Amino acid sequence: MAKEKLGLNTVCTHVGEIKDEQFKGAISPMYLSTSYQFEDVDVLRYPRYFNTPNQEYLSKKIAALEHAEAALIFGSGMAAISTTLMAFLSAGDHIVLQKDLYGGTRNLVEEQFDRYKIEYTFTEGLKLSDFEKVLQPNTKLIYIETPSNPLLKLVDLKAIADLSISKGIVSVIDNTFATPVIQNPIDFGIDIVIHSATKYFGGHSDICAGAVASSQEHIETIWNLAKNTGGSLSDFTVWLLERSMKTLGIRVKAQNRNAKKLALFLERHKLIDKVYYPGLKSHSDYKLAKMQMKDFGAMLSFELIEGLDASAFLKALKLIKPCMSLAGVESTMLLPSIASHALLTQKERDTQGITDRLLRFSVGIEDKKDIINDIEQALAKISVEKVMN
Ligand SMILES: *Cc1c(COP(=O)(O)O)cnc(C)c1O
Repeated sequence: MAKEKLGLNTVCTHVGEIKDEQFKGAISPMYLSTSYQFEDVDVLRYPRYFNTPNQEYLSKKIAALEHAEAALIFGSGMAAISTTLMAFLSAGDHIVLQKDLYGGTRNLVEEQFDRYKIEYTFTEGLKLSDFEKVLQPNTKLIYIETPSNPLLKLVDLKAIADLSISKGIVSVIDNTFATPVIQNPIDFGIDIVIHSATKYFGGHSDICAGAVASSQEHIETIWNLAKNTGGSLSDFTVWLLERSMKTLGIRVKAQNRNAKKLALFLERHKLIDKVYYPGLKSHSDYKLAKMQMKDFGAMLSFELIEGLDASAFLKALKLIKPCMSLAGVESTMLLPSIASHALLTQKERDTQGITDRLLRFSVGIEDKKDIINDIEQALAKISVEKVMN
């Protein structure tokens, strides 16, 4: 049976299982050895070589999900991102990164790259021309993240892939928000796909991990640095991550279904000003979303009408948790202005459209009516308080 012919949920459940030859158990055994035989073996195994049985086999599942040849699992999303970038960039090279980017990635570039004499440019917008016009003769890498955080703006995958290929530049995407359930960038010609596995891959807000998927050749380049820098994930957590990923497909689809309905509910609500969700016809990138995404994902943002206090709204919620991070089975919300994007200046937030009334919503798997009821009661509470004040 060819692996690529298997359905998504079958890949999630079965690809990369380790057969329990000894006891015939139904699930992958956990191999915690940090010491393996060195003679009469095909591979020298060691956790920091990213090749223990659990690491090697779970990587197959991740590669299959992303339509890639190979993958590596890291101790965090940032370990995956930093190792990938440093593996391809040397002193004197230049990297182009999209403007709206995960804060940790932006910090890595702005706080560290000068010391390594790596030049970088953040684009002004997300259109192809915004990338084209900042390319330099020494540009080695283009880095994108679509949908973006927190306004769910899209970058055209095919256009960026074509541009990169025509210039011989390596293209990298952070596919954390979409997951391979919703978007397969490699099918559009993007070279390397990165995940914060802390998010949907883990899915239960209890694992910190990262992953990279690409061609065998690129994965070898990344591995050559990774084995030196040592950002591997413990086998215990690798095993837990395998357990989580069996339900990746059904979790993300359930979250996605909820998100679509909640986006419509919020868009129609008179106390909500704007909703940012690529699945809404009102979203500026709706057409592009239909072209490159299999569905629209489970992240959305919305803005309360003027005069309503977003902090008070969060405090009034009873079911939805006001928490950092995202992608767990539980619904969470945060205020980008004081959480994920607090380090930006007011002016930077204004130009990115991140107001004090903007809320980012990571939609969970709870019953839709309970999520809606929670939002309704919180909105009712803060609008009554406002009338009384
Ligand atoms: C969380 C996140 C990261 C960083 O991942 P860690 O596991 O926290 O290191 C990178 N990109 C995106 C889009 C994220 O949401």
